Amino acid sequence: MANSEFDTIAAISTPVGEGGISIIRISGEEALPIAQVVFKGKDLSKVDSHTINYGHVIDPGTQTEVDEVMASVMLAPKTYTKEDIVEINCHGGLVATNQILQLLLSHGARLAEPGEFTKRAFLNGRIDLSQAEAVMDLIRAKTDKSMKVALNQLDGNLSRLIRQLRQDILDVLAQVEVNIDYPEYDAVEEMTTKLLQEKAAELQKLIKQLLNSAKQGKVLREGLATAIIGRPNVGKSSLLNNLLHEDKAIVTDIAGTTRDVIEDYVNVNGVPLKLIDTAGIRETTDQIEAIGVERSRQAIDTADLVLLLLNNSEALTDEDRGLIADTADVKRIIILNKTDLLEQLDHQELFSLVNEDDVIETSILNDQGMDQLAKRISDLFFGEGIETNSNNVMVTNARHIGLLNQADAALGDVQQGIAAGLPVDLVQIDMTRSWELLGEITGDSYQDELLDQLFSQFCLGK
Ligand code: GDP
Ligand code: ZN
Repeated sequence: MANSEFDTIAAISTPVGEGGISIIRISGEEALPIAQVVFKGKDLSKVDSHTINYGHVIDPGTQTEVDEVMASVMLAPKTYTKEDIVEINCHGGLVATNQILQLLLSHGARLAEPGEFTKRAFLNGRIDLSQAEAVMDLIRAKTDKSMKVALNQLDGNLSRLIRQLRQDILDVLAQVEVNIDYPEYDAVEEMTTKLLQEKAAELQKLIKQLLNSAKQGKVLREGLATAIIGRPNVGKSSLLNNLLHEDKAIVTDIAGTTRDVIEDYVNVNGVPLKLIDTAGIRETTDQIEAIGVERSRQAIDTADLVLLLLNNSEALTDEDRGLIADTADVKRIIILNKTDLLEQLDHQELFSLVNEDDVIETSILNDQGMDQLAKRISDLFFGEGIETNSNNVMVTNARHIGLLNQADAALGDVQQGIAAGLPVDLVQIDMTRSWELLGEITGDSYQDELLDQLFSQFCLGK
């Protein structure tokens, strides 16, 4: 039988096996009766909404106790999905958690598809599409800043701004309609095109601002692909360990973040660095280091940022010069390491090869220069301040970026059309198109396939 939007669904909402407590979430009309079948304690159908109730989960078949639990009862509509929700908090442990889920599934609940809880929140009108996507971003958020961006979006700031833009467009279109209805006035045609021209330019400017924020947003969301390179023994492994060590809060407690995903991320002043090929750096045998040089050339090609280490206590070698040349065209920071030792590197030669501003001196061994390095990295990416646009909204989502780019193009077409002297009703089509495109961001206009594809990206239990 096909899954229905009306089934009562259940899933484990916390990362399996981690943490002291696991939560099994049940949502739908039958959430209470199904939970009651396995719950021994108060009659859940009689308790107040939004209460937490102590009890035990008992296997009704064998009458054996599965776990001591707390059951939260939240009645529609003030819940995550706008449906009745029961959340069973158990002591965790893979076995108990799974057993409780299985019991619920064998007593009428269906296993939730990935993202189905959030999908219901959307379908039931509790959140809009960009907010649903923010939930997804939150799950994957890698630093405090990326979390702030996602929270901001979850809060609906992007949606508000987009709705405002759409309203502006509607107002213009309405104005144009009125003008077209009174063609007897000579000046009207001219006024209409002027109005369209001005509005399109104004809206385009706002959209471009949003698109500019996307670049920073992408970094926050996906991490900045970073290659640590340098010849053997300059301190690559030491740098990596230092960064990893400093990084006390890469991962937040949000359900769904898994260790393997964040393993190679470090948080440097709020910039998530996604370290490329750390496995190669961790190895220290000479043989691996030799391969490492080849690898570092590949890493340079895929990196957004290169950290190139040089040894201040030795003269520059041809290998150093080669790496300097190879990284000339990428964003790089030259780390002049081992400044605690006697200086042997010719600074004059170095500064003839690289920009002095790109060089940071460190003694990684003594933890010196690391703050400057961190500051340099964040300045490089958030130099103008992270909250650059006046609306304080940052676009981070690829789908939103795509739609904004199309809306931008449509508004460009409006202006070109006017410049080329096209009739107003043709220009109007492009204006309307920008309105529709923006609507797809908030889900005010959406298609079913889009929804399915979107929500399937969620983890189970969200
Ligand atoms: P890699 O081969 O580039 O990964 O270099 P490592 O990080 O393995 O470091 C090679 C050696 O240099 C190790 O013995 C480190 O302890 C040492 N080292 C790293 N940084 C410094 C530093 O700033 N000063 C000094 N004196 N030694 C360092
Ligand atoms: Zn190494």
